Amino acid sequence: MKIKHLLLSAFVLLTSAKASFAQDGELKNFTSMQMQGIEQITVDVDLDGAVDRLSKAVQFKTISNQDREDFDTQAFDDYHAFIKESYPNVHKHLKRELLGNPRPYSLLYTWEGSDPSLEPALFYAHQDVVPVPEDSRDQWKEDPFSGAVKDGYIWGRGVLDDKNQIHAILEAAEMRLKEGWQPTRTMYFVFGQDEEVGGNEGAKHIADVLEQRGIKRFAYVMDESAPLTPGIFPGIKDNTALIGIAQKGFISLELEINGIGGHSSMPPEESNIGILATAITKLEEAQFPYKIHPAVRHQYRYMGPELDEKKQPLYAAVAFGKDGEVTPMEEEFIDEMSKNEVTRAMLHTTIATTMFNAGIKDNVLPPTATAVVNFRPMPGDTPEVIIEHIRKAIKDDRITIRDISASTPATNIADPTGKGYEALEKTIRQIWGNDLIVSPFFVVGGSDSKHFQAKDFAPDVYTITAIQLESTTEFKGFHGVNERILVDEYAKSIGFFYQIFNNLEVLENHL
Ligand SMILES: [Zn+2]
Repeated sequence: MKIKHLLLSAFVLLTSAKASFAQDGELKNFTSMQMQGIEQITVDVDLDGAVDRLSKAVQFKTISNQDREDFDTQAFDDYHAFIKESYPNVHKHLKRELLGNPRPYSLLYTWEGSDPSLEPALFYAHQDVVPVPEDSRDQWKEDPFSGAVKDGYIWGRGVLDDKNQIHAILEAAEMRLKEGWQPTRTMYFVFGQDEEVGGNEGAKHIADVLEQRGIKRFAYVMDESAPLTPGIFPGIKDNTALIGIAQKGFISLELEINGIGGHSSMPPEESNIGILATAITKLEEAQFPYKIHPAVRHQYRYMGPELDEKKQPLYAAVAFGKDGEVTPMEEEFIDEMSKNEVTRAMLHTTIATTMFNAGIKDNVLPPTATAVVNFRPMPGDTPEVIIEHIRKAIKDDRITIRDISASTPATNIADPTGKGYEALEKTIRQIWGNDLIVSPFFVVGGSDSKHFQAKDFAPDVYTITAIQLESTTEFKGFHGVNERILVDEYAKSIGFFYQIFNNLEVLENHL
């Protein structure tokens, strides 16, 4: 404890020395990156109709259970039919395909642009929702699948994650089509079927299909992530629009010990459960080292100047820091970030032991024990690197390691200085005004667009759920109880998509 305290004092000293240095150098370049002078607009929306359609959409139980045999094809078929009858112009002018492997329940819409030489744009959202656990039902103020519209809110599973985005996109497209508007660049809408269980049937397959069809590069891809919320990022009270520019990877590994079982009256010195538990303990002690991801540097370049002035030398050091070297100030930043589990996850490949199975009877030693560990990798931590890390940590050849997931690598990083980001920020400010911080950020969770962003044809994936929440309490509706959105904010969400379709017209080709 004492040593740590001393080390910390040393950091503080070094920090203040560096701070005065930084003030002279980096700090004078550490100016606000917030877009200025954007005029707020109001988009007229048929709100009663739109709310009614979203309310009905919630009533289709398009649930993703972990057990994939539980897939309710009827619920998806009915939902598709409902979408078709609700948006006649979309279905008259856009090409609609049902894709997915092995089950074709994801929707791909193609809105042909007038100039085929332009790189296309893609809007992503998912149809599936997480289940509502029986024991949480009584905490819901409204039935989660009733789509109740009450007290100024639309209630139900999926109104925030993520049917709101599907319907806001379709409402906006319907409005544009009625006005006779046509995009110059081709636009795709992709609505996946299994985002909540990894997206291997839907998004992953469609990313492959579009790649095979010869699309060289997307100018812009957008998907869900954090909604606009005051206090959404730890330590920042202001209303903030976080734009995800990179996502971590995903891999689940099963560790297994296969040995001799036997009777509990004559146990060996080590049981299989004991051996595996020791291995897991050793693995959890061998955490991956902390490093600053380039997306985190971008994040603090944008956020930093809007935050506490006293901390700006620190943020400037992170924003302008170089990969591969860690300055004392970056060390201090890492120290601070690692105290909170949300921000700590941004610093390294995480290790989460999620399942542990062994034994069936109190007097029988189980011949096998298995554990599942879920990792969220940083760039470079491939499955091979992670497996090697485990082997070194546990030093036990009796344990076998197997990849049980369709793993995805950490993604590319979208450009926060390009026209795509600019069009997105402009649209956010047109709809929600200028009294908010807009900043890129590094997504530790990840959504279906990772299947696109992991490929080189879609580096510029921007993720944000385009709706304003009142507070972080409302955010708990994501996968929780009382998922709901404000009716008036849903109108703005539709306005957002209506506006961004047109704002994307200015994007340049990259190739
Ligand atoms: Zn979602």
